[in-house]
Amino acid sequence: MPGIFVSAIICKIKTMKKIGLLSSLIIACLIVKAQPDRWQQRIAYNISVNMNVTANQFTGIEKIDYWNNSPDTLNRVFFHLYWNAFQPNSMMDIRSRELGKTVLGTDREGNPIYDWDDRVKDRIQHLQPNEIGYDSAVYVKLNGIAQKLIYHETILEVQLKTPLLPHSKNSFEVSFNCQVPLQVRRSGRDNAEGIRYSMSQWYPKMVEYDYQGWNANPYIAREFYGVWGDFNVNITIDKNYMLAASGTVQNANEVRYGYGESTDHGPQSTAKTVTWKFAAKNVHDFVWAADTAFTMIKKQMPNGPLFYFVYKKVDSLQSAWENVANTIEKAYPYIAKTFGAYPYKNYSFIQGGDGGMEYPMATLIKNASVGTAIHEFMHSWYQGLMGTNESLFPWMDEGFTTYAEQRVSNWLRGDTAFAFTNSYGSYFRIVKSGKEEALTTHADHYNTNYGYSVASYSKGSIFLSQLGYIVGDSLLNRILLEYYNEWRFKHPNANDFVRIAEKVSGIELQWYKEYWVYTTRTIDYAIGDINMNGNNASIVIKRLGLMPMPVDVLVTYKDGTQELHYIPMNLMYGEKPAENGIKRFVHDEWKWVDPEYSFSISKAVTDIKSIEIDPSQRMADLNRVNNKIVVP
Ligand SMILES: [Zn+2]
Repeated sequence: MPGIFVSAIICKIKTMKKIGLLSSLIIACLIVKAQPDRWQQRIAYNISVNMNVTANQFTGIEKIDYWNNSPDTLNRVFFHLYWNAFQPNSMMDIRSRELGKTVLGTDREGNPIYDWDDRVKDRIQHLQPNEIGYDSAVYVKLNGIAQKLIYHETILEVQLKTPLLPHSKNSFEVSFNCQVPLQVRRSGRDNAEGIRYSMSQWYPKMVEYDYQGWNANPYIAREFYGVWGDFNVNITIDKNYMLAASGTVQNANEVRYGYGESTDHGPQSTAKTVTWKFAAKNVHDFVWAADTAFTMIKKQMPNGPLFYFVYKKVDSLQSAWENVANTIEKAYPYIAKTFGAYPYKNYSFIQGGDGGMEYPMATLIKNASVGTAIHEFMHSWYQGLMGTNESLFPWMDEGFTTYAEQRVSNWLRGDTAFAFTNSYGSYFRIVKSGKEEALTTHADHYNTNYGYSVASYSKGSIFLSQLGYIVGDSLLNRILLEYYNEWRFKHPNANDFVRIAEKVSGIELQWYKEYWVYTTRTIDYAIGDINMNGNNASIVIKRLGLMPMPVDVLVTYKDGTQELHYIPMNLMYGEKPAENGIKRFVHDEWKWVDPEYSFSISKAVTDIKSIEIDPSQRMADLNRVNNKIVVP
């Protein structure tokens, strides 16, 4: 945020009379404005809720400070009321059942595979009145005055009697009551593992307004985007429940259960309820969970966060959770070095939900799977710290997280093999199925769940591993850290990432973004003819796919020596540094319009043992059968 305020202040002072100062301040304005940070809204929530664990309902009051840092006058604001999705015939219910009509193929027994989330299917339609969820705002006051409310199911529109002026601070008060849905997806009570409360997307949450306008996406299954801000959350609940949440417990000595220096027993008070007080700063969401059988393991990293592992106290789960805790402790130094330090005080792995779902400073995972735990923790960077608009750029969250997860998992295994094979495999399969859609598709609007998943997770992770092929892995590592340094807490978009990559590598990458993100065009290079040209062999490489790329060609000779022949593509206006100890020859750039390219080597055809395009396999070449020839 500092960049925004500095810009506003400096630009006001420019009207001062002193000419020398004036001109230098105008220059300062230009410099500051040229920086990549944009204006951002800011919010501070003070939320107090009173939970009824018998009825599974709660009432709450939210006091919100909201800074309209935009240059716009806002005549209305919006809130997310996610839990209204868990009602028969909601948009989420209809969408799930519609997608379930698509058959993607058959399983091994010949049964059809439907394109729906197995956790949702048609379950919402069958929820009984005491099983549905709801979020209901009783009133929304702006600076003390009740405003007009219009419900759009999971989106609440608040029409303002007095508009929010540009660069103004305003106070909202929201009174609400909610019923916790029976767990269907992510949120809810009594999940399959018996966790009483998995409380995500639980409070009226202000919709983000940014340089692209309002992001009032009705909730139909996925993706969360929020306003950067601070949360103070007070939860009054039966004292037999242990809680875990985003943020840091403020009254550890009162609630106890192992927080702070306390024992693992609950509150000493004779009252039936206790109020848990949590604070989280500079986050865009807040999750909590509660159960009467929770217990925890704590791991304090030297110069790093305190990890909480909170799970149901069951003997059969103990060693699996200890394994997760020990693995995260081992991985954290590598993670911090590779992706940047985790900047908050604590992070909680909480048993709950229905798989794995990321939230700022916490995750809900249904069981003690190391792979899931690493994946969700790595979301702390791309969902938590970057806060990218996941609806518009789901691949920058799930894809980058998948990439990070695969790298961390490989490192833990001590595996030197290529870490991303699974992502390439699923991407190749969807291309061949004809169901691929471009990465620019809005997360809610993919035609199939299958198309969304492979684009976001697999093609998104290949975006990074393949960038390593284009700019070199050492520069990719610097790009990841520079992205973290430059864009955390700022909602970066695809272009922001690509600009960082260009600046760090000195290679132009607009073409990469345009082909890989905006289109579904594919890559296929092949080895063509090999001819004698005097004493030297010449090798023809063919571009069969529509997407151009730079090409690495490894030539292995019968005497055991190897040469790497590198052909930059002309739109790059640059070349990657040599990556390994193999002798490298850099050839003239390949103009992207040419379907063929040939280069000479210093030896004869009879000296060649094999020729291979991209032995690193980082280039997502759709047909690898034509990538290698072995000379008989
Ligand atoms: Zn994920």
